Amino acid sequence: MRLLTFKKNGTATLGVVEVDGQTIIDLSVAAPDLPQDMNSFIELGNDGLKKAAAACDKASDDARLKLADLELLAPIPNPRRNVMCVGRNYHEHAQEFHDSGFDATAGATAVPDDPIIFTKATTSVSGPSDPIPAHLDSSNSTDYEGELAVIIGKEGRGISKADAFDYVFGYTVSNDVTARTQQHKHKQWFIGKSLDGYCPMGPMIVTADEAGHPDTFHLKTVVNGETRQDASVADLIFDIPTLIECISAGITLKPGDIIATGTPVGVGIGFEPPVFLKKGDVVEVTIEPIGTIRNEIE
Ligand code: MG
Repeated sequence: MRLLTFKKNGTATLGVVEVDGQTIIDLSVAAPDLPQDMNSFIELGNDGLKKAAAACDKASDDARLKLADLELLAPIPNPRRNVMCVGRNYHEHAQEFHDSGFDATAGATAVPDDPIIFTKATTSVSGPSDPIPAHLDSSNSTDYEGELAVIIGKEGRGISKADAFDYVFGYTVSNDVTARTQQHKHKQWFIGKSLDGYCPMGPMIVTADEAGHPDTFHLKTVVNGETRQDASVADLIFDIPTLIECISAGITLKPGDIIATGTPVGVGIGFEPPVFLKKGDVVEVTIEPIGTIRNEIE
């Protein structure tokens, strides 16, 4: 199932994208008893998915809307907890970051021995077409990081790698937008990565059963029409089961938690000299089979 959140009369509402990819079923019309908030919907687990599917099967035409007409929000517009993120999780990106001089936490080697986990503030999350307010970055060093984000579907602690995919609700596209000078200056990455609007996500969540294995996903980031990142998600240094096992070892994961899995080679600080985003630039991150987020710098 392909699930999205859109704004209807000023309120966040859930939709299910139909097979044609052009129309959606408005769940507030087709399934008014279901919660219209993605966190609450995810908490229902398979029961919620079954109810939504049944409602879609018998939905009337007045529940159908054109996807192109909708104002999409992030699939989870208000995460309950910070977005969990992974640093240096593709080999070539680990090397480019190591070599860039912007990594205040750099060790002796580019590739870390264990996953580097940090978080972004919930208020950084924005929609798939929202502008990125780079004017908030007084250091003028804003950069993109196209990433696959995993959405957790059920609560768990001490989750083994073997069981990890049982805890995945689905996947979405994210851009871990970063103010590089602030990332470097403040040592820990929270400030440089948590500016308002610095985590566009969407355009939808593709549930795990529909998406297939993430090793088959392909990520591409395009800036002003120029391809900058082009990678297979299979090239992650620490794969999704490893990340879930690592984080959940002592921290309870909850439904609706988001884990951004890291970015591949090709970010702006990989250029010599670095190339930062400027007003008017357009960044598109596409992950097949999920879709594209497209955000203009303002
Ligand atoms: Mg990142």
